[in-house]
Amino acid sequence: MTALECAFNHTLDRPETACRNTDFIETPMSRIALIANPISGSGSSRARAEALQQELEHVGHEVVLTWTRLEPCAQWLDPVLQDVDVAVVAGGDGTVRLVAESAIQTRTPIYQVPTGTENLFARALGHSGEAGDVIRAIEAADVCLLDVADANGTTSILMTSCGFDAAVVQDLASRRTGPISHWTYLPSMLRQLWSWKPVPVGIMVDGEGVGSDQPGLCFVCNCREYGGGFNPAPDARMDDGLLDIVFLPTRSRLGLLRWMWKARWGTHLASTRALHARGRRIVLEPASPVPWQVDGDCPAESATPLTQRVTIEVRSGVLPVLRPAGDASRN
Ligand SMILES: [Mg+2]
Repeated sequence: MTALECAFNHTLDRPETACRNTDFIETPMSRIALIANPISGSGSSRARAEALQQELEHVGHEVVLTWTRLEPCAQWLDPVLQDVDVAVVAGGDGTVRLVAESAIQTRTPIYQVPTGTENLFARALGHSGEAGDVIRAIEAADVCLLDVADANGTTSILMTSCGFDAAVVQDLASRRTGPISHWTYLPSMLRQLWSWKPVPVGIMVDGEGVGSDQPGLCFVCNCREYGGGFNPAPDARMDDGLLDIVFLPTRSRLGLLRWMWKARWGTHLASTRALHARGRRIVLEPASPVPWQVDGDCPAESATPLTQRVTIEVRSGVLPVLRPAGDASRN
């Protein structure tokens, strides 16, 4: 337990997971929407989606294959999901986030077939892209309801942050011309490492100020997976109705590298300087405008790329998710 953590020990006690009613789930799940991002995974998503469609139809399912579009989901995705029992999402985490709000509104369970760069949602849930695993999950029809977060009006399923990692995400987004890989991040990381200046951040957790407006790295996590072997909140759960906030103070780029090294080995939260708290509503107030990111992407186009205030609020147990067959332990 760190010094900063001690001050907010009460927020680290999780409530019992609420009993969440999934009686609205239709079984057997025979009508399937296969939502695919055709450019995910360097374009391999298209071929995998078409192969999966054949496998699902071969065992008797009715499959509606739908490619993702740029238009608002309410126009093209909600009508598709209203007519199916489950949505299989072939893409990366950005595609899952795209589908999430329609899944919430239409109460359609989702399952990620991981074809993106990180696939953190699938990793956390234990979702596999093997056709046999997808079919067994659909037959088992074991659905849980997970939390998401609202971050300045944008739906977040994994994490929201401001600071260095958000600067890297925005740098990459401004230069991206097609599919990405892990290596695509490297030039953006080096550029941002060269120019990054830590900014003091005010932090409120459920209306209570925490920390002391120090500069540093600030992560608000719904999911324990973050990517790149760097998991700021490795104990975060997606079904506890709480968001994990981790703040790692640093005034220098060298300090940033030290934190990245510690987090790589999972020792960062053992530091007396780290802050770890949980709450339902987190407010981040950087002293000057900084980049922010949601689930590894720039926020929605309507939001500003720089901000001096991010409000992240949990939406408890709203996202229906299909569990892998025979695995009720993951969240
Ligand atoms: Mg949580």
